[in-house]
Amino acid sequence: MNINIKNRFIFSLSIVSLLALCAQPIFAWGDKGHKLINKKAVEFFPPAMKSFEIWGDYLSEHAPDPDYRKEKDKSEPPKHFIDIDYYNEFQSGNMIENEDSLITEYGKNEVIKIGILPWATLNTYNELIAAFKNHNKVEALKLAADLGHYVADGHQPMHTVMNYNGQLTDQKGVHFRYEITMVDEHLNQLENCFQPLPAPYIKDPLDFIFHYISNSNSVCGILFDADNFAFNYCGSRSSDEYYKLMWFRTGYITEIQFDHAAEDFASLVYTAWVNAGKPSFNDMK
Ligand SMILES: [Zn+2]
Repeated sequence: MNINIKNRFIFSLSIVSLLALCAQPIFAWGDKGHKLINKKAVEFFPPAMKSFEIWGDYLSEHAPDPDYRKEKDKSEPPKHFIDIDYYNEFQSGNMIENEDSLITEYGKNEVIKIGILPWATLNTYNELIAAFKNHNKVEALKLAADLGHYVADGHQPMHTVMNYNGQLTDQKGVHFRYEITMVDEHLNQLENCFQPLPAPYIKDPLDFIFHYISNSNSVCGILFDADNFAFNYCGSRSSDEYYKLMWFRTGYITEIQFDHAAEDFASLVYTAWVNAGKPSFNDMK
């Protein structure tokens, strides 16, 4: 099965239609989910970076920015997902992590079609190192907010799977039901799910990114099963009872994904800062 760009486009169109109906931005974890993850991430900064905690407000406010670039910048949409189970190498546990090597194998158009989230994340991380090195506070803030967004997308299981909207299993719309309607209803619980520990230094950022994306992909089945279970039980995919059951069966995973997204984002910011020579907070102008 080949999830082609046309399907993505159709999905985007339906999102745009929904946007018009709801007047509410809806991508990835939604504005509220992204803002919460970026806000909480600074609490995971290790002691050496504590002075940067004050960046939390900016990182939160600008967490959804990459979603709003999608319409104007056509290179942006594929940066938000990777249908990683499309690749035989992933299925067999031998994923090709190097972008150029994957392009050699599949061609550039195909790799872009399937989504380039891991390398968009890595590139943003590398640019953040440069911004830290240059003591460029404005750039560092912007790049860190973007990085938080891409890391959070990598922790949304449906951004890592071919069946990203249940379109292959007669569960269309599960993406929106799960990441927006259900998540927005439970923001209070999610607010309290974080368990900040000092974020570790990451030796191999690209491998680290693929690791959490693989983890995300591995829990997709639980989300799709919960959607079917709740539908079969309630006879509806829109009732309060359906959403109650969805949360009951997927809330614990969602809390883990939010917590890990904040920690993994903090780890990459910390690693970028260390690799830039640990510029002091006051030197960032
Ligand atoms: Zn996104």
